[in-house]
Amino acid sequence: RASPALEMTEWADVADWWPRLTASSEKYSRGVVGIATGSATYPGAGVLSVGGALAGPTGLVRYAGGARTEVLHHHPSVIATDRVADAGRVQAWVCGSGLGTGDEARTELRAVLAAPLPVVLDADALTLLVDGSSAKRLRDRDAPIVITPHDREFARLAGEPPGADRVAAALRLAAWMKAVVLLKGERTVIATPDGRAFANPTGTPALATGGTGDVLAGLLGSLLAAGLSAERAAVVAAYLHGLAGREAARHGPVTASDVAAALPTVIPN
Ligand code: AMP
Ligand code: MG
Repeated sequence: RASPALEMTEWADVADWWPRLTASSEKYSRGVVGIATGSATYPGAGVLSVGGALAGPTGLVRYAGGARTEVLHHHPSVIATDRVADAGRVQAWVCGSGLGTGDEARTELRAVLAAPLPVVLDADALTLLVDGSSAKRLRDRDAPIVITPHDREFARLAGEPPGADRVAAALRLAAWMKAVVLLKGERTVIATPDGRAFANPTGTPALATGGTGDVLAGLLGSLLAAGLSAERAAVVAAYLHGLAGREAARHGPVTASDVAAALPTVIPN
């Protein structure tokens, strides 16, 4: 079977798809994103994914997790609770980065998946999927799912590493999980369950540092909550995340916080 065409993301599409403010914009109508990441053990993941979400187009970010204090310290504009069940209304969830893999993390992931909303699953949420029977249940879910594995997370989910043909590997996992797969790496690939694939041209090795994936997941969730399709949200988030990495690298060695801070400077206007 011939490989399907691989589309290279272009700035013109990103700029076209990015949700714009209008004179009558209102915070709720811009969308509300829920962030269920971080924990007492990994509070930084909560701070970073919220940072990514705040750079996105939504009007409000709700945080639910074990890093409330740290998140509010860094991001006072967020509404924070401990549990997903107490978070209030959102239009999309991001779950996983720094969540942990214990019983409490599993409960929170279940709460996220129970809502009929688009979700981004990253990091520990992907580990929990491998352990449980949840991967199978995901296939029956109607609302869109985006998973954002790096190579090792991909290998755990798929049972084998992506190998040389990353596009084919991402497409297989997307079809099997009925989810959009954003396979991270030097050349990030986005694959859809219906067999389309996109390559992201903006990557930079400056992003190869702890926590940058958490920023990406937050931005992606904000785009979903603002109403973009799972596929467009993934394409736009990967593109702008790469640009932010490049922008941050102009000033010296990059941390994930620098990437989040650079995002507003690369967003289409
Ligand atoms: P994570 O491993 O979850 O923190 O995610 C790392 C992020 O950095 C992803 O967005 C990757 O695509 C990106 N990244 C890591 N290494 C490279 C690289 N060598 N070139 C471009 N992007 C990279
Ligand atoms: Mg990660």
